[in-house]
Amino acid sequence: MSNPIRTCIGCRQPAPQDELLRIALIDADGLPKAVFDPHHRLPGRGAWLHPERPDCVQAALAAKSLTRAFRRPVDCSALHS
Ligand SMILES: [Zn+2]
Repeated sequence: MSNPIRTCIGCRQPAPQDELLRIALIDADGLPKAVFDPHHRLPGRGAWLHPERPDCVQAALAAKSLTRAFRRPVDCSALHS
């Protein structure tokens, strides 16, 4: 099983993929919706995040890191619960 290095969008540090939680986009009316994709089932570009570091989660959601990661505006309301 390969374990590539990904960059956390919260702290911007590289980390092995298995330490990070994948975020993917699903089509929706209006903006595409960002959702957690723990089983890597959703197609397309992904963003990666340290799920157990509140600082990373907060930075990712607050600083429009998702918009930058996906290169377009996204609806991240589903990640806030
Ligand atoms: Zn991080």
